Amino acid sequence: MTYVRLIARHHYDSAEAAILPCSRAEKRSLLGLWKFMAGMPVGGARVNADTTRINRQDATATAQLSIFVRFGHDPASVWVKAATRSLKLQLHGERWLVAADVTRAAGGDLAAYGFSSFSRPVFYDGSRATVVASAGADDAEARFILRVADAAVPEIWSRLGDGKAARRPLIFLVESKRQGERLAHIDLGKVRTPAGWQYSAFTYVDMPEWEQLDEDSQQSMVVHELAHVATRSWLSGAPHSLVEGVAMYEEDRWRRDHRIWPISYDRLGDFYAGVDSIQLWQRRWSDWGLRNLLGIHYAYLDAMAMVQTIVDRHGGVDALRRLAAALPRRGVSQGFSQNDIRAAFLSALGVSFEQVVSETRNRLR
Ligand SMILES: [Zn+2]
Repeated sequence: MTYVRLIARHHYDSAEAAILPCSRAEKRSLLGLWKFMAGMPVGGARVNADTTRINRQDATATAQLSIFVRFGHDPASVWVKAATRSLKLQLHGERWLVAADVTRAAGGDLAAYGFSSFSRPVFYDGSRATVVASAGADDAEARFILRVADAAVPEIWSRLGDGKAARRPLIFLVESKRQGERLAHIDLGKVRTPAGWQYSAFTYVDMPEWEQLDEDSQQSMVVHELAHVATRSWLSGAPHSLVEGVAMYEEDRWRRDHRIWPISYDRLGDFYAGVDSIQLWQRRWSDWGLRNLLGIHYAYLDAMAMVQTIVDRHGGVDALRRLAAALPRRGVSQGFSQNDIRAAFLSALGVSFEQVVSETRNRLR
């Protein structure tokens, strides 16, 4: 434990004194962790000993350790399980010394957070957000994303934020399709737009996709994903339309506040002719389970328009929170019944679902 703590604090000389590798391969095995931790924040690490197995016959032991890291100064990010390691220890006189790193499966929980895909992570700490990228990432792009996040987080937080995670969001920059695919295995509760997605307390930006956007949309897309992180604690079980509507509303608000062309409702009025809004509101799946790109596009716009109506006419952001709280807990694949939705609108907003729909449609006509 002391040994790993020393490495986590980047005290390599003291760590060197605690090792006793016999072969060159053993020495090399230990350097892997040194290199990995060199990219991690100093002083932001916590080491937990999970189990230790002692073999009395040859005076060796195997210790299982978990290393957690936390980014940024106050407010710091949530703890992230950065690595799990198995170390072989050797009794040397009275002291246990580290002989080799015998970790078999790389990473542990790492992969879920994207760390293992980052050969050597670099991080950029801002006042309210931290950007984590691989060493090959474009420095200017990483700093641009950090500037947007630092400017956006205080406002998003004061308006929508809840829970610890949103106090310092972590934004991972994903550099290649393959890296993205590996990260995308985490499907649970994932909310995505083409250039980014949010999972748990983390925001991911798919850089090749992000680079295709114009500079204005590059900014507002980051705001959109940060809004998901901020609202996760009270929207995690909500209809997909409410989850996306709030993020779209916040994205649009950023654009207006920064004199960027607002998100266009396009021909949403025409689209409404063939759509029953309540069927969208019943769903909890990514993209509402729609296959048609145009349909997905309009479902996002409908979500935003409905949220706009609720905020403007039926009680502001507090009404959104009440609405989320008024809905029963339902599984993702189960979704909500029409009765669930109607009852929640009535009790949280004091108006019927149908009235909010018709106000929204009339506004866009
Ligand atoms: Zn979204």
